[in-house]
Amino acid sequence: EDEMRAFRRRLRIKARGENVPDCLPSFSLLPCPDASLKRTLLRNIESSQWKEPTPIQMQALPVLAMGRDLLATAPTGSGKTAAFVLPTLLRLEKSEAKLLRNGPRALLLAPTRELASQICGEVQRLAAGRAFKVAVVSKALAATKDGAGQGVFSGYDLLVATPMRLLQALREGKVDLRRVRAVILDEADKLFELGREGKKNTAGESLEPDKSFLGQVDEILAACTYPEVQRALFSATLPPLIHDLASSVLRDPVSVSVGLASN
Ligand code: ADP
Ligand code: MG
Repeated sequence: EDEMRAFRRRLRIKARGENVPDCLPSFSLLPCPDASLKRTLLRNIESSQWKEPTPIQMQALPVLAMGRDLLATAPTGSGKTAAFVLPTLLRLEKSEAKLLRNGPRALLLAPTRELASQICGEVQRLAAGRAFKVAVVSKALAATKDGAGQGVFSGYDLLVATPMRLLQALREGKVDLRRVRAVILDEADKLFELGREGKKNTAGESLEPDKSFLGQVDEILAACTYPEVQRALFSATLPPLIHDLASSVLRDPVSVSVGLASN
């Protein structure tokens, strides 16, 4: 207990909440009941030449792996992507991997299409060797049909999207979020800014800013009706707006911050 407190202090990890799990000092301790999946993940981590988890990974990984909601704040470049991608892959495997696919089981939201593509690339790299199906939600993909004439997104395990694009697919009945077990919002601070400004086209007209970002996220979360869906927010900064967002969408969360000035 005291040892863990000293460990966190040394790495400038601040953790708040009920029953915060211990930090994960090594990737080899990843809590993964599926030995073959664990081997694959460790091999992919090794080929990234990552020696040990970064501080945000050490604390965020075990929190997410146990299914808890999380508010995570750490500077740009501190490894936040893997901090949510690895536990998401662990949880995907646990939930009916062998059953027919009928809708995505995890959702990663990002403020821009570019960032969504980067996250998707990281998922594919860390999951290499497993049969997970992952995609970025785009207009083009939404317009295609699968072999059975069903919405194409039912064939994916994990979707990465901007809230606006996902909401559009949702409203057009092209994606079913009822089986989603985990929703992660990356760069929540930027998401929030974008949502407030609204997107404009080249003529300066507003494009579908019919809702604030919070409204968009609320509508997406309302469509994720699986019981006790896990939610997490990742951000480089922690402005008051993110606090408000966190308290309105997270349930009994653990808050983790690393290397903030206020530490
Ligand atoms: P953030 O989202 O916090 O800005 P990223 O997830 O983009 O950070 O990661 C920043 C860089 O750190 C990437 O190049 C990534 O490959 C690398 N990285 C991630 N985890 C580790 C690790 N455990 N050890 C070394 N490098 C890492
Ligand atoms: Mg990032």
